[in-house]
Amino acid sequence: MALAGGMKILVLNAGSSSLKFNLFECTPESIKTNSERVLAKGETERAAGMADALKSVFQQIDGASVDAVGHRVVHGGDLFHESVIVDAEVEKQIEELSILAPLHNPHNLEGFRAARAYLPRVPQVAVFDTAFHHTLPPRAYVYGLPYEYLTERKIRRYGFHGISHRYVSWRFAQLHGKKRSDYRMITCHLGNGCSVCAIEHGRSIDTSMGFTPLEGLIMGTRSGDLDAGAILHLITHEREDPAGLLHVLNDASGLKGISGVSNDMRDLLREAGAGNDRAALAVEAFCYRVRKYIGMYLAAMDGADVLIFTGGIGENAGAIRARICEGLGNLGIAVDREANERDSRDAREIGSWKIPVWVVPTDEELLIARDTLRCILNLAHE
Ligand code: ADP
Repeated sequence: MALAGGMKILVLNAGSSSLKFNLFECTPESIKTNSERVLAKGETERAAGMADALKSVFQQIDGASVDAVGHRVVHGGDLFHESVIVDAEVEKQIEELSILAPLHNPHNLEGFRAARAYLPRVPQVAVFDTAFHHTLPPRAYVYGLPYEYLTERKIRRYGFHGISHRYVSWRFAQLHGKKRSDYRMITCHLGNGCSVCAIEHGRSIDTSMGFTPLEGLIMGTRSGDLDAGAILHLITHEREDPAGLLHVLNDASGLKGISGVSNDMRDLLREAGAGNDRAALAVEAFCYRVRKYIGMYLAAMDGADVLIFTGGIGENAGAIRARICEGLGNLGIAVDREANERDSRDAREIGSWKIPVWVVPTDEELLIARDTLRCILNLAHE
């Protein structure tokens, strides 16, 4: 199957309403030098089901040339610490984990099944959003609940966005000719979903998302941290039901809920500039929450060697990065106004006070392609 040009790896990322695909050409060498080629990419609606969505993908690429398929899988629970080739046992375990991620894992399973129907002899690999956080120490993943909730019911913090935190931390180190383990890093993934991660010498030791991707930062439409007592109050006194609360917390909260305007940071910055107080409050609360998490992770690691921003907001919204870092001078963090405002798509330094501040564009699909290659060629994991 291996051609001189390298392996063709199809990456599938199945969301709730769409299927993103990328076709990469990868070699063991390109993994080290960040030199993969993107042969095709796109996004297709999956309202008519995964089989139809894949059909549309294979109208755009030549399925016969694909050497392996890599899938993003949201929840690997405490079972998967690294990417794996999907066999019947793995598929069963991912299905069992659907109870922990009912909004996500079922789509991923549909993805395996549909891809297998098209490419029955091609290996498929699962790359988990939780796996990078398997190194969290118990003190970071335990909730303050009775111990049986952890051991028997698996109620603990898992963390998500691991693919992105892992990619940008690797990329930063690679740009400096070093290893991730040479640094203490704080990485902020700020997109529609948002999370912060403390990476101590290569290992994720804390992260803001928890049992589900709801915990932590204020996000586009998700609430982030919330007193569980408020939920109990709504159930007991306001007769809210679980389905309604699921919708409110996931789809009607966060920036959208506070502002009443939009979940898109661009709209909020514009509205706040035009004098909309609720939009201004949403932006202020968003930035304040990120700043607090940075402070927590500075405490968790007794400092940091770099602070990294990524994701749609983290990469593009200089005004938000500046506001997050405001007033952190005594902790060693400040952005350089000119560098921060410069428009660029490249990884770059935007602050050089005691702790350098960087923007590193994420590329989750690329990391999925690399892990897929590593799995099928049995290469060591990074
Ligand atoms: P996802 O988490 O779905 O992958 P992205 O990482 O692409 O999403 O982030 C999407 C968000 O990034 C948008 O909702 C928008 O708020 C924000 N964003 C993108 N570009 C800009 C910009 N130039 N200024 C401010 N926010 C931006």
